[in-house]
Amino acid sequence: MHSKSTILIVDDDEMAKASLREELEKDYIVLDAYNGIQALKILNDHEVAAIVLDLIMPEMDGIGFLEEFSKKQEYKKIPVIVATSNDDEVMEQKCLELGVWDFVMKPYKPVLLEFRIKNVIDKSRMIMAERDSVTKLYTKMKFYQSTRQMLLEQQGESFAFLRIDIDRFKMINNFYGVQEGDKVLIAIAKELRRISGTFEHFRYGRLDNDVFACCVPYKEENIELLVKALQIKLKQLNKDYNIKISCGVYVIDDYNMDISEMYDRAFMAAKNCKGQFIENIAYYDDSMIENMRQEQFIINDVNKALEEEQFVVFLQPKINLQTDKPYGAEALVRWKHPEKGMIAPSDFIPVYERNGIIGKLDQYMWRQVCKLLRRWIDEGLEPDPISVNVSRVNLYNPHLVEILKNLITEYQISASLLNLELTESAFMEDQDLIMSTMSKLHKLGFKIMMDDFGSGFSSLNILKDMELDYLKIDMKFLDSQGFNGRGEKVLTSVIRMAKWLQLPAIVEGVETLEQVDFLKCIGCEYAQGFYFAKPMPVFEYEKYIRRSRKQIAKEVDSVHADLVNELWDSGSNVSILFDSIALPMAAFEYRKGNVELLRSNATFDITFRGEQMLSGKEKEAKTEKERKILAYAFKQVLSDQTMELVVMEKCEKRYKLMINVLGNRKDTHIFIVTYIEK
Ligand code: C2E
Ligand code: MG
Ligand code: MG
Repeated sequence: MHSKSTILIVDDDEMAKASLREELEKDYIVLDAYNGIQALKILNDHEVAAIVLDLIMPEMDGIGFLEEFSKKQEYKKIPVIVATSNDDEVMEQKCLELGVWDFVMKPYKPVLLEFRIKNVIDKSRMIMAERDSVTKLYTKMKFYQSTRQMLLEQQGESFAFLRIDIDRFKMINNFYGVQEGDKVLIAIAKELRRISGTFEHFRYGRLDNDVFACCVPYKEENIELLVKALQIKLKQLNKDYNIKISCGVYVIDDYNMDISEMYDRAFMAAKNCKGQFIENIAYYDDSMIENMRQEQFIINDVNKALEEEQFVVFLQPKINLQTDKPYGAEALVRWKHPEKGMIAPSDFIPVYERNGIIGKLDQYMWRQVCKLLRRWIDEGLEPDPISVNVSRVNLYNPHLVEILKNLITEYQISASLLNLELTESAFMEDQDLIMSTMSKLHKLGFKIMMDDFGSGFSSLNILKDMELDYLKIDMKFLDSQGFNGRGEKVLTSVIRMAKWLQLPAIVEGVETLEQVDFLKCIGCEYAQGFYFAKPMPVFEYEKYIRRSRKQIAKEVDSVHADLVNELWDSGSNVSILFDSIALPMAAFEYRKGNVELLRSNATFDITFRGEQMLSGKEKEAKTEKERKILAYAFKQVLSDQTMELVVMEKCEKRYKLMINVLGNRKDTHIFIVTYIEK
């Protein structure tokens, strides 16, 4: 037979309570309180199935009570019926906001009220099933409630609250199927049940997907044994999984604290020290609250920071290892905080990722980069592609493709200039969705890179199914394998495989010459890292690129210098080529404003033969005039200014001059001028 449920009537009208009590006591245990304060006390000591609440009472009225009551997680399942004597809509709305389930009119009609009570209790039972269907453990509500009860009964004893979760549980579900995932959960539940037998007081439950919690008498060795036992159980289940659990511990020092708050503290501990401790046990300490405050500050400030453009783009060049020249860059965010100075992404990106705010920040960065590309194009800088990071949140944003498309349309830039870096772990989740998104992005012309390959559950298999354009591998991946030895072999085979898939690789985090040499040796195409350049502000990057392009020009020039020598040698290939060209061409030396004709080709000599016939004076004047035109044109070319069209009249025809630098030596420059008839 079912034991009777307990009803709590909170009303200061003793007569009304008495009449209700008479009717309800047939089916329920009836407790009553005179006001809100008394009611909260009763709730602390009893398990109550439903509450009937008057609004107007001395000391603490109905609303005051509801405000306190609604703060406690473990009370959420207790239905409250509010008694009103008039229909005050504002009051009613306030009550609903505070979680009230139903209303009755005063004076009470006991029979009617009893029906109402039965209804809400049935409903709450249905909603708050006590056992989880997969593991048959207590659900969150029930676990919280029963833990609260245990702590009340065992006052004076010391307890710890544990939050246990399985690292990478999602991966097990994805790779081996949900059934296999369920097996893991059931195994943990079974082990917890066994462990519970070894303690006199122990509460445990499954709170969420792969999250379990328990409350154990506090002793470090108890916790260590418990975690070890779970770990062993998982090993026995399947040796291949290599599943780890992590356990956050809050040693309870305030027994009046809400259970949900105890949970938060254990969670904080787990998050703070993931993977750092032996057996993955991490204890809560008060500094973590400080971190949480810090986190809160980071979240609170984000909108203002976005509005005021406090987030700035830093650029880290990527280097083409075949040419040792930069080819594009990655845009990395920095927070230029007005009071705190420069904040690194590691201090705020993880927080934003947890809160989904990263979506907004990413989009802000994409826009900044598009703006930048537009400016560079306008300034004639001919930019190489810049890659931006796309966080998981945006990958699952149904408007992602549209947002990116609108951006490149707005700024009128080619999609091939904005490369997208998607982090590896995002690829593991919903592969169908990712593949269809990627294919849409490809159709628009975007290039996609898989970022941080090797940092997570990399699966080489995935690479062949995904339409990727580049693979980014973090050098850190090597560290974990040991650079000398296994790590080298792993990287070599990854790069080889990427080549086989026609997927160029970019290795990032490159810090030493030794690493560069190794990467070149194994045929890696691109590198990025402090060895070449650190992430830098935009203006520095612009200088960097200008410098590196000048450098390229210089190198090209020194190649040309060799050509100049060949030009004098009439038997050389260059010379033969020069003479065989069907346009008039001449080589000039330009030094400190003076122009000297060095050599002309055969077509030149034939075309301008007429000028040779001029008289001495005429010829000199003509030559002097041409020198002036050429000197002006050469100066223009050297000062990097855009060339104006230079036109020259020769033998009564007009020629457009095409000017090329052939070589530079100190202040002497050699130009080749081609005369094209207009
Ligand atoms: P990531 O995308 O893998 O970027 C590479 C990180 O490696 C950058 O850190 C870069 O400064 C760092 N790095 C580059 N070369 C070296 C090196 O030689 N040695 C070492 N030790 N580190 C190197 P950063 O800028 O601190 O960014 C960290 C992570 O934050 C990025 O990793 C990325 O995941 C994220 N992030 C940065 N900016 C954004 C952004 O705008 N949006 C999103 N969603 N994430 C971003
Ligand atoms: Mg990246
Ligand atoms: Mg990376």
